[in-house]
Amino acid sequence: MVAVPNVLLNNGVEIPQLGFGVFQIDPSETADAVSKAFEIGYRHIDTAQMYGNEKGVGQAFAKSGLDRSEVFITSKLNNNQLGHDAALTAFDKTLADLGLEKVDLFLIHWPLPTKRDFVETWKAFEEIYRDGRARSIGVSNFQPHHLRRLHEETTIPPAVNQIEVHPYLTQEELRAFDDEHGIATEAWSPIAQGKVLDDPTIVAIAKEHGKTPAQVVLRWHIQHGSIVFPKSVTESRMKENFEIFDFELPVSDMGSISALNKDERTGPDPDVFDYIPA
Ligand code: NDP
Repeated sequence: MVAVPNVLLNNGVEIPQLGFGVFQIDPSETADAVSKAFEIGYRHIDTAQMYGNEKGVGQAFAKSGLDRSEVFITSKLNNNQLGHDAALTAFDKTLADLGLEKVDLFLIHWPLPTKRDFVETWKAFEEIYRDGRARSIGVSNFQPHHLRRLHEETTIPPAVNQIEVHPYLTQEELRAFDDEHGIATEAWSPIAQGKVLDDPTIVAIAKEHGKTPAQVVLRWHIQHGSIVFPKSVTESRMKENFEIFDFELPVSDMGSISALNKDERTGPDPDVFDYIPA
């Protein structure tokens, strides 16, 4: 089986650079999908309270026969659980739903521009980290101004920033900001939910390497040093997305893919998105 490289986080924890995302997988189908992912070799699962499928992830792990130390599990705080006490209570539920004593990574899902209490929430995350119930803590959809505020007002720096990145939204400045501050970038919607796969430049590069467009795009992320977790409920695609460590894109192909950037989001803009579920 191909070895997935690890990325070393700023607190010494290692995270597999390729994982499996479960956004939009129906809760009733999640355990099966994650079990398949484990069989293929994925050892890193990205879920969230908002996805409603943490229990399925926990069930798949419980029956996998894998040792806890072999699997890296991330979850994220729901937007309606911000604030110190709410975050602690919601985190307890995440552990119960996953059936775990600790998660490997816990993230603030969105900064929420009008609510703006992510600093207070982060202080709860620091407590969770200090008492060992999250091996690492991080943020998602944070812009530099959010990260600066955390830096000024809190103690523990985020280990990761999970942001939307793909060839149509390359996020060069934000990735550079993360790098400069020792924060690992995780790229969500790494294939833009499929929207970049028909791009003629990507199709041509894929043909040249005898790979698929999805493999080429995922490889482009890997060579940037980003952490990715493509989602698929299709077993052949899950396998395809895992087979990206047996080829290398030359600098010219890396540049051609990056040049496709049009700052086009498939998901919401973190400076505007203020969705709080009931
Ligand atoms: P992806 O970019 O991973 O794309 C998923 C879509 O592409 C699905 O429709 C899937 O179809 C299809 N697909 C997957 N592999 C292939 C392939 N090899 N060839 C063709 N089509 C393919 O999008 P996601 O939005 O799901 O992002 C991945 C993960 O990132 C999420 O699951 C979640 O963990 C995380 N995320 C985090 C967010 C955040 O705010 N922090 C926001 C959004 C995502 P099918 O399943 O039918 O096979």
